[in-house]
Amino acid sequence: MTLVYQSTRDEKNTVTASQAILQGLATDGGLFTPVSYPQVELDFDTLKDASYQEVAKLVLSAFLDDFTAEELDYCISHAYDSKFDTPAIAPLVKLDGQYNLELFHGSTIAFKDMALSILPYFMTTAAKKHGLENKIVILTATSGDTGKAAMAGFADVPGTEIIVFYPKDGVSKVQELQMTTQTGDNTHVIAIDGNFDDAQTNVKHMFNDVALREKLATNKMQFSSANSMNIGRLVPQVVYYVYAYAQLVKTGQITAGEKVNFTVPTGNFGNILAAFYAKQIGLPVGKLICASNENNVLTDFFKTHVYDKKREFKVTTSPSMDILVSSNLERLIFHLVGNDATKTKELMESLVATGQYQLSNFDADILDLFAAAYADEAETAAEIKRVYEASDYIEDPHTAVASAVYQKYRTQTGDTAKTVIASTASPYKFPVVAVEAVTGETGLGDFEALAKLHTLSGVPVPPAVDGLETAPVRHRTSVAAKDMQAAVEDYLGL
Ligand SMILES: *Cc1c(COP(=O)(O)O)cnc(C)c1O
Repeated sequence: MTLVYQSTRDEKNTVTASQAILQGLATDGGLFTPVSYPQVELDFDTLKDASYQEVAKLVLSAFLDDFTAEELDYCISHAYDSKFDTPAIAPLVKLDGQYNLELFHGSTIAFKDMALSILPYFMTTAAKKHGLENKIVILTATSGDTGKAAMAGFADVPGTEIIVFYPKDGVSKVQELQMTTQTGDNTHVIAIDGNFDDAQTNVKHMFNDVALREKLATNKMQFSSANSMNIGRLVPQVVYYVYAYAQLVKTGQITAGEKVNFTVPTGNFGNILAAFYAKQIGLPVGKLICASNENNVLTDFFKTHVYDKKREFKVTTSPSMDILVSSNLERLIFHLVGNDATKTKELMESLVATGQYQLSNFDADILDLFAAAYADEAETAAEIKRVYEASDYIEDPHTAVASAVYQKYRTQTGDTAKTVIASTASPYKFPVVAVEAVTGETGLGDFEALAKLHTLSGVPVPPAVDGLETAPVRHRTSVAAKDMQAAVEDYLGL
């Protein structure tokens, strides 16, 4: 039987996994979501000795059940290879009182690599399956991290082209260099005179432009999206929760069947939703602890059941979590209201019209799985320092938000279940913040901080940033926001 993925906003809009990956977003504005869960046999006596790739095969074949075993082997072996700097792919590190699951060993040293290194292979495989001969053109607006991770994933993947737009004055020096030095003949990076919203708005406009779509089709091309609403980004994230659990069994930290908590630094709600799906296929999960920074709209939602985005947007040291509309929460809402698309659509429309919605008549068992709290800027910096002093380990600011929230949670609840912190970025991605938190030094430049971080932590500088200062810049195009479409047509020879 083939698993059904249904739009969260229209019960008649159902597709298979490979179709959902190709489409990205449902045309009705909803997100493709599984309405039942696959049966997976999680036998940890065997899984404890499985490689990351083997765990991936088990989980992915369950969720992406219209891909053949050969197709999945091809995707997995090309995604999780020497691009990662450790054969473990996602190592689990034991610290004082917690376990950090390091999701930052891929090419851009942030957790988006875990899914974006496999998505291009899913897409090209799905395209072949459905007899599509068009070249897939990925358009992405980025505020810094996603664009680089998407390019690293799609670089030199046959049958694809990727174009990334970023706000010229809106990213850090390291982030900008990571993008402008990107290799791969099919990668294009364009700085725009404007902010992230301008970039995002124009990208959405191009996606919805019928004339442009027809022009692409005439040239045997089509747009697709690599953003985190694509189910092809969500499912690969289920893998590492199962893998982490297997490592805890393997090292004797837990016995198979024992419940484990996961604390996840949350922005768009994709990563923690993957942990929820891991629980649905039988992983023994206690609590899913949703950690936010000062943009704490989710903390309030779990407390009051009201989602209210009408609040000040705060710029923090954990920028990938600076978000007021968590897109993937729509999938949890759908499950909370009993997979009711009509009700979900109503709530989402209320969010657009009034800036908020209130949840009533929901599945309390699902909501009870979650705990939520936030850490402010001072608490986050203090946590980086605390962990350094306790465990001689330096967390990045996103991971530190989760770590700080877990400390609060444990104090408040007395819950002593073993807890894994999803560690979403390497501190080398945010060296200034990390060094300042540990030493109190201020006013450091990015590359100066990088060297200090190396001295402090003893961790080798990852290839993603080593040599970045002197790497050849390959992309120098800069356009006005209004000329984005012209730049795309120019690149594609339309
Ligand atoms: C994207 C990101 C997050 C947030 O993950 P979501 O899946 O959007 O909740 C957290 N930390 C880092 C470093 C990220 O890049």
